[in-house]
Amino acid sequence: MYELVIKNGTVVTAVATYQADIGIQAEKIAAIGTHLAGKREIDAAGKLVIPGAVDIHVHLQMPIGNFVSSDDFYSGTRAAAFGGTTSIVDFVEPHATESLLQALAARRAEADSRVVIDYGLHMTIGPEQMDILDQVSAAYAAGCGSFKLYMAYGLRLTDDQLYRALQAIRDVNGLPVVHAENWDMICQLIADNLAVSRTSPHWHPRSRPARMEGEAVGRVIDIATQVGTRIHIFHVTCAEAVQRIKKARQMGAAVTGETCPQYLLQTWDAYDQPGVEGALPVCAPPIRDEDQQNALWQALARGDLQVVTTDHCPFTRADKETGILANDFSQIPGGVPSIESRYAAVYAFGVRSGLLTLNQWVELCATTPARLAGFASKGDIIPGYDADLVIFDPQKTVTLSTDTLHENVDWTLYAGLEVQGWPTTTLSHGKVIVNDGQFLGAAGNGRFVPRFFN
Ligand SMILES: [Zn+2]
Repeated sequence: MYELVIKNGTVVTAVATYQADIGIQAEKIAAIGTHLAGKREIDAAGKLVIPGAVDIHVHLQMPIGNFVSSDDFYSGTRAAAFGGTTSIVDFVEPHATESLLQALAARRAEADSRVVIDYGLHMTIGPEQMDILDQVSAAYAAGCGSFKLYMAYGLRLTDDQLYRALQAIRDVNGLPVVHAENWDMICQLIADNLAVSRTSPHWHPRSRPARMEGEAVGRVIDIATQVGTRIHIFHVTCAEAVQRIKKARQMGAAVTGETCPQYLLQTWDAYDQPGVEGALPVCAPPIRDEDQQNALWQALARGDLQVVTTDHCPFTRADKETGILANDFSQIPGGVPSIESRYAAVYAFGVRSGLLTLNQWVELCATTPARLAGFASKGDIIPGYDADLVIFDPQKTVTLSTDTLHENVDWTLYAGLEVQGWPTTTLSHGKVIVNDGQFLGAAGNGRFVPRFFN
């Protein structure tokens, strides 16, 4: 007799689809079988039972200039739970005067009492950390198994700095995760456009061409290969970048890449909407045209990209409007919300369209991100793993809007989009935290999960 049994569901993992009951005991998956009995039972007949999704790229309460992303560790993880996501990885951004461990402690102090699902943290290595690379091993030992490197913005590392940071990460067996864009070219193109009064968001994607994203992805892969380290490429938006990743993988390099719902569901026409509407989709790298969108779906289907994350980083309409009022698209705070809709959106537009199998869907959203990021007991349905599970109703239709979503932001990129298939029940550590639209979890019930690689 198990504490809880999910009965009669169709279990879907990255490798198999089958009918089974799942027995849960002491927060773990204890058994997978038939005719299991529980003190409590949930009937999942007609529904899919899938691993909780793992989103290894989110920015909650993240300061950027004068703004802070509007979902905090409570509202953001709660929205994630409604969407069937049971683990996230956010970021530590150390100040110049902090040690990496001080910065980690400060970020954990913001998150630990607020999260409703488990979380990990990537440690950011920026230019100000170049003289404390000897602390990378301490950050790794404290559970930051992965390290974020930027090739853009104020945190941008030059090629020699990338080389040195990648060596330090390699030496501790950490995972480098990279924002790859060509910052020098972007700055010049922005300046060129603003100089001739091209100030509207229309010029945002045109200042960050796909060709240059491909160049930056190729460059950092080459530097990683020179160093002899694996590398994960964040938010791939175009065929040019996919080709570099694919080629490196064919040559045996340990390179992986991800894309995000905004690149799969939207096109750059969204930037041509009048007023603040055109500013809302501003994110970097930018959303591109329909051909690029199709190329990304194909890359997921063929395995040339391995992960779907969100890069969830919402800013309010008022925040976004500042760039419109300033008549300068480059001043619009970059980032969009997707944390709640990812699992269902990839099902609705990937699986239902016949492009992806059920197993690929679970692999892209849960299993591979968990393994890649070093979550030892998440992202799969195996006895002994954490009972982070989702019951997914393939018939339930949800029309995405700020009324149906729980993200703390006054807009969504997907307003009016009808999604068939939605999570009805989310379990974290064997406890039901969302059921039929009711939130049953609590702030602080999520845990910091140290992530390591052997
Ligand atoms: Zn990001």
